[in-house]
Amino acid sequence: MAFQLTPEHQALRAMVREFAESEIIPHAAEWDRTHHFPVDVVHKMGELGLLGIVFEEEYGGGGGDFLSLCIAIEEIGRADQSMGITLEAAVGLGINPIAAFGTPEQKARWLPDLLAGRTLAAFGLTEPGGGSDAAGATRTRAALDGGEWVINGSKAFITNSGTDITSVITVTAVTGDNEISALIVPAGTPGLTVEPAYDKLGWHASDTHGLVFEDCRVPAENLLGERGRGFHQFLATLDDGRIAVGALSVGLIQACLDLSVEYALDREAFGRPIGANQGLAFQLADMDVTLEAARLLTYKAAALKDAGQPIKQAAARAKLFASEGAVSATRVLTQVLGGYGFMEEGPAARFYRDAKILEIGEGTSEILRLVISRSLGLPVL
Ligand SMILES: Cc1cc2nc3c(=O)[nH]c(=O)nc-3n(C[C@H](O)[C@H](O)[C@H](O)COP(=O)(O)OP(=O)(O)OC[C@H]3O[C@@H](n4cnc5c(N)ncnc54)[C@H](O)[C@@H]3O)c2cc1C
Repeated sequence: MAFQLTPEHQALRAMVREFAESEIIPHAAEWDRTHHFPVDVVHKMGELGLLGIVFEEEYGGGGGDFLSLCIAIEEIGRADQSMGITLEAAVGLGINPIAAFGTPEQKARWLPDLLAGRTLAAFGLTEPGGGSDAAGATRTRAALDGGEWVINGSKAFITNSGTDITSVITVTAVTGDNEISALIVPAGTPGLTVEPAYDKLGWHASDTHGLVFEDCRVPAENLLGERGRGFHQFLATLDDGRIAVGALSVGLIQACLDLSVEYALDREAFGRPIGANQGLAFQLADMDVTLEAARLLTYKAAALKDAGQPIKQAAARAKLFASEGAVSATRVLTQVLGGYGFMEEGPAARFYRDAKILEIGEGTSEILRLVISRSLGLPVL
């Protein structure tokens, strides 16, 4: 087992960190305060190759491994979780299904601009009636009529679905008895309404909308992959995404540790640095262990994916542990900073608000425990 990143992975981390520190960190608080989605950052991430990192070179991708994607998401997420989820969702939810299941024609049409960061894609699975039981809760229907799919229904909480550069949204729909399929819907298709952006607890600079489909017609060839394989497709998409959300969480834990240690060395109380108190220092020691374990679980899941091995259990473990570790780390950071931690002038409050969704999106902690229990052979419902 190699526990050392290759020189290429280390160089990638250094490059993304430099970008994040110069182009994201100085502006993240302002974007959060004004709920501003910085399109230019997406373009720049595209120019750096971050959106195409794992995809085929034929379409402008980097042909890299999944671990590289995790490192990139980790570093962007260390700077700002809104931009981290924008990258994660763009790749894991937006591009991934088209790259994995699309025809050569579909890939040729959509991937070059998506991989270059000129456009963004979204993935609409969750509905107002439920996300955890995504198959059972799917009420959106699509029927063939005159060589076109006619889509009716609605989707909830869809990331990257309403930006100025969103080009395409893949949606799941019931297409027959016990049959769910995925359809590619170009942005701006008549009959698709993008609802106003949600007012969220965190991720203020990320883009999230509800979608309504009313007799929305797309050509029959916009079916993604095989008819009736939508359920299989979104499970595979979510497994990949869970590793990537693990990486996003690792980035947040790293940011919390860096800031906590810096402050604990600098801030004094009772004539000594607050970090000289075991009660505080031991919390940071625990955070360090959580960070290392979360990173190892995430990188192991990525390595399994790169080796073509099954990832369901590994991905669930990584996301569960890392996301819960991130929520805990933001609580400790806020406590270490005392009153300043509660102020919006520093990143702690933003991190605290941004963390909670990590335990919800792309599989709640409860659903991940369900997946892991089943992997153990337990007949849990
Ligand atoms: C900011 C944001 C961005 C998102 N982006 C996207 C996106 O791009 N695309 C997309 O498709 N979706 C997206 N989602 C949706 C997200 O994946 C869902 O919110 C999530 O899967 C949970 O679904 P739900 O909200 O319907 O909760 P529910 O499924 O209603 O669950 C409610 C609660 O019940 C618990 N629960 C449910 N079933 C069980 C069970 N069997 N055992 C124990 N507990 C259970 C859940 O864990 C949860 O605590 C996003 C959500 C948010 C908030």
